[in-house]
This record gives sequence, structure tokens and C-alpha cells, in this order.
Amino acid sequence: MAKFEYAPAPESRAILHIRPSYGLFIDGEFVQSSGGSTFKTINPSSEEVLAEVTEAGAADVDIAVRAARKAFDGPWGRLPGAERAKYLFRIARILQERSREFAVLESLDNGKPIKESRDVDIPLAAAHFFYHAGWADKLDHAGLSDGAGQPPRPLGVVGQVIPWNFPLLMLSWKIAPALAAGNTVVLKPAETTPLTALLFAEVCQQADLPAGVVNIITGAGQTGRHLVEHPGVDKVAFTGSTHVGKAIARSLAGTRKRATLELGGKAANIVFDDAAIDQAVEGIVNGIFFNQGHVCCAGSRLLVQESVADDVVMRLKRRVETLRVGDPLDKNTDVGAINSAAQLARIRELTQIGESEGATRWSAPCVLPERGFWFAPTVFTGVSQAHRIAREEIFGPVLSVLTFRTPQEAVAKANNTPYGLSAGVWTEKGSRILWMADQLRAGVIWANTFNRFDPTSPFGGYQESGYGREGGRHGLEAYLRTGASR
Ligand code: NAD
Repeated sequence: MAKFEYAPAPESRAILHIRPSYGLFIDGEFVQSSGGSTFKTINPSSEEVLAEVTEAGAADVDIAVRAARKAFDGPWGRLPGAERAKYLFRIARILQERSREFAVLESLDNGKPIKESRDVDIPLAAAHFFYHAGWADKLDHAGLSDGAGQPPRPLGVVGQVIPWNFPLLMLSWKIAPALAAGNTVVLKPAETTPLTALLFAEVCQQADLPAGVVNIITGAGQTGRHLVEHPGVDKVAFTGSTHVGKAIARSLAGTRKRATLELGGKAANIVFDDAAIDQAVEGIVNGIFFNQGHVCCAGSRLLVQESVADDVVMRLKRRVETLRVGDPLDKNTDVGAINSAAQLARIRELTQIGESEGATRWSAPCVLPERGFWFAPTVFTGVSQAHRIAREEIFGPVLSVLTFRTPQEAVAKANNTPYGLSAGVWTEKGSRILWMADQLRAGVIWANTFNRFDPTSPFGGYQESGYGREGGRHGLEAYLRTGASR
């Protein structure tokens, strides 16, 4: 198929000022670590070092948690909701005003295409703050009070740990509801993508947020462990892998801490023979190649009805061939860089296993840049349910295609997973959509669309995809002591 040639359209980096090194953001200011160790964050599309970042140790975590406690016990804890809302609105507006700066920084540190950070991550992050700002003064009317009319109360200090796939967006999913509900937070971004969280710390300063309400500490898994295990933390909110989520759940067992865990997924994207096939193909592409497939709810298992399978796979490959893979800062890029060498190694390992288990591999014939971490969009056909590529989360641009004959078979195959975060259904029949939604064990089910997010809509998993919801009234409840949970 003829491809359009595009002239390079790189977004400028001139808007950004990345400091050579960053401290920790504690009690309203950037401070040095008491331990003094640092690590580098790199641009995964070029392996260029972007900045040196502080590795927070146990003593730093303790200082941050104490700062958050002091802020909670101080004026912030007594501030009326309408006043808290003003800070959230202010943060939302600053995110919008500085959106280009955030988008460029996110694409540099994460490797995602600028058109995604510009059109999805940053606008949604601002939307989360706007949405939750609206809740801050209405909590007494959210239907969360107990029978005796006791209004809901904040939990206290929240420890939050987030992954690298949507750095600023995951931060906003965590911080916006926590502050709207009146809590204070200590947040740890992922070690490969700390920069937008550190820029967010500057936004907190710009918004005159009282000191200690938001604390950002950087570091790897050990720092996260210190945070979630700190006795001064009242609630843990974690997004990341199921493996780490289980370790956190074990460490919290027997404590009084609340927890919400948003973990991995292996979603089924189900295409029936009456679906609008070209639209479904767009949805399949968006489902697995958006954000290089680094998406917990990615539609990584395509279940396609046997009668249309050949046609769907043919059209899918034709479409995938047109995806432009390359420089994340180029506005024409569809698929950017893999976030880290470790993640690339994992994707390679699982795709090799897919081949050795007998599935048929097809990769888009694209030229990959020499430096950096890259993986061509890949489709496996002839996949069976027993294959590891059909069971394990690859977290990369790799799709496994399976077929089915009846709706019952589609449901059985879709539910044959330890996860349960999302699913997609493509069909013309409304009744079938409703029946499928009833049968599928997944937290979010998209009908004739995929990967759509909205702050008003709760998001979360079943089974090994975790527990608790983020977004909407349900997500807010997770940050409040309510009638049901006092
Ligand atoms: P990860 O679990 O390795 O790391 C996530 C975060 O946890 C990082 O900040 C890391 O430093 C920290 N961490 C690591 N070990 C820790 C420990 N023992 N205690 C506390 N913190 C620790 O996951 P990842 O590779 O960064 O992210 C990818 C995973 O996240 C995928 O499995 C993906 O599905 C999942 N994810 C889920 C959602 C969701 O909403 N369900 C959203 C995005 C990503």
C-alpha cells in the first residue's frame, strides 16, 4: 500500500529547562537527600542523559511523611472544601497553561509520541484536577455519609507509588482525588520517568499550595517499599505490576492502612462478524499500539470471529504497515520508543517464546532508529490460549490473535485469564453488547471503541488486576472515611 511521505515535524525542546540535577520535593521545597545517592534518567529514544535525580532513602521518606502529617494536622486539614477546590482549579489551569512544556518533557523522558502526550496525557491530567476540584466542596452531598448524617472525612497521609507508562496522568489520578478529599500525599514516580512529577512540584509552588500537602520523592523500588511500609501512612495507592502489587498487599496485611491496587492486565478485544470492520481495525490498532502498548488495559488479545478472521487480519496488517515509528518529538510519529532497556528485553524475550511455542509472527516492515530502545509493531496469529503470549502481560506493541465461533466461546476465552482490567466488544447489536458486558469479568468494557478515559468514570480491575477504583465518585470514596468504612 502506498505510504505518504511526511516531512519531519519535530516539536521544539526550547520551551523546556531541564536542570542538571534534582533534589526531593518535601515540605514545599526542593531539598537534598540525607543519604546523597543519585541516579540518571535518560531519553529512551536516544539514550541521552536528561538529568540526575535523587534516590530517596528511608530517612528521606520519613521526613516526607512527617511533612505530610504536619500539613494534614495543620491548616490544610481544617480548610473548607471550597478553599481546597481553589488550589485544585489553580493547578488544573497551570497544567493547561504549561501543557506544551509538560508534553515535551513527558515525551523526552518516557519515549511516547508527542501527539499522545500533547493530546491525551496532559489534557487528561488537567481534566482530572478540574473534575476533582468540583467535588471538593460537595463531599457532604455525594451520598457517602452514614445513616447518622456524619459527613465523610479524609484519611490522613496517603503514600502513592506510580508506574512509568503515563507518568503525569497517573500522578493526577492519584493526587487530584486525594487532595479533593482533604488528604496530604507523598508520591513516588517511577525511576525511569521522574521528570514530569518534579515539574509538577514546581506547579505546586506556583499554585501556592501549602507546604507539605504534596511531597514528591524519587527513587526505585526500595524507596517505594519504604513509603508503603512507613507507619505514618494511612492509605497506600499503588499502580504498577501485579508482582509488586502482591508484595505490597502482603506487607500491608494486618496493618490499619487502606490500600487500592491498580495492577496489570491482558485484555480481550472481541470483534464479531457484524462489526464495522474498518472501525474495528482502528480500535484494534489503538488498543494495542497506543503508547507502544505500555498500557495496563491494552487490548493485547484480539478475539476475532472465525468467519471474518482472515479479512480482519489482512486489513489490520495493511493498517499497521502505515504506522510511523520513530522520533517521539516528531508530530507525525505514531509509535515511539520503548521506555527502557529492561522493558525492551522483556518484550523480546516473550516474543521469542511466542515463536518457539509455534505462533506465527509478523512485524511491520519499518526501519528502526539505531540508538535507543525500539520494537516494531508485531502481530502474532495462530495463537492458542495455552501460549504464554496469550496469558502474560507483554506490555509492549505486540498483539496476539485468537479466534472464536460463538459468543459463548468468546466469553469463555476472554475470561480465561488471571487478570480482569478491561475488554472491548465490536458488534452492531446493542443487545449483544449488553449481554457481553454482563458476562465479561473486567472492570471496564468498551463497546465499539477502546482506550477511552474520562475522570468521571471509575477505572479498576478484577482478580489479579487489583482492587479499588480510580476516577468518578467511586475513586473519591477510596480517599474518604465514610459511613460504610469508619
Ligand atoms: P512496577 O510494579 O515494576 O513499578 C511500579 C512502581 O512501583 C515504580 O514506581 C517502582 O519503583 C515501584 N516499586 C517497585 N518495587 C516496589 C516495592 N517493592 N514496593 C513499593 N514500590 C515498588 O511496574 P512498572 O513496570 O513500572 O509498570 C508497569 C506495570 O504497571 C504493568 O504491569 C501495568 O499493567 C501496570 N499498570 C497498571 C495500571 C492500572 O491502572 N491498573 C496503570 C498503569 C500501569
